[in-house]
Amino acid sequence: MEDLYFSRLPLALQNIVLEIEAAASFDVTVKICPWRDKTDSQESQPLRCVVDETEARILIPSLDQFRPSSVLHELLHLRRFLIQCVPQINVCERFWTLEAEAFFAELDNSLEHFLIIPEEIRWYPERLAQWITKMNRNLDKVETGSGDADDREFDAVYSLALIEHAIPDNNLKSRSRALLSRLSLMDRAISFRNAIIPTLSDKEAATAVFVEHFSLDREMICLKYLDPINRTHELKKLMQA
Ligand SMILES: [Zn+2]
Repeated sequence: MEDLYFSRLPLALQNIVLEIEAAASFDVTVKICPWRDKTDSQESQPLRCVVDETEARILIPSLDQFRPSSVLHELLHLRRFLIQCVPQINVCERFWTLEAEAFFAELDNSLEHFLIIPEEIRWYPERLAQWITKMNRNLDKVETGSGDADDREFDAVYSLALIEHAIPDNNLKSRSRALLSRLSLMDRAISFRNAIIPTLSDKEAATAVFVEHFSLDREMICLKYLDPINRTHELKKLMQA
């Protein structure tokens, strides 16, 4: 990582960077992307990472938003893909469109957050408040009925599982449950939660739960295993249920 950024991290995070770089045999780089500035929308995580078998890059809106707690979130994403060899959910080549790529990248993030948020909060307990704010904002959107109906349903059903697993807050939990009852989605949400939590240590199984519970097209999904040492990756179809 460039010194300018590396020197701003506490030792424990510097060590994670070094571990990732050693495993990947390339540097983690940082790039300023001013268009990522979400201060208006109070986005809890304006940072993002881009990773494949040849690069790992953290995108930041500005230098002053390169905060250790936000950087840790991205490092935890990178560590799973580059050190722990967890695959990423990807759209298979023959179905590729920009929209499909973005959709499955977002889905991958949603799944990864079940594992990343608890660890992030263990390191930086103050991050809990930001995740509570973000989840409340998602529930606001569901409540006001803005946006696409499928997205709203996804957000409502997904939120309960994420909140109960990763974002311990009683008000948020009650709010999510009340909203699900009102939308008659409680049974779906409970059944998704019960299915997803036991699979979290197995990305393929967890992906299959998302496919089944949100009626996604299994054919479109490939799991991408990065092999940074050989600068290649392997694509695996999702096993049939
Ligand atoms: Zn994330």
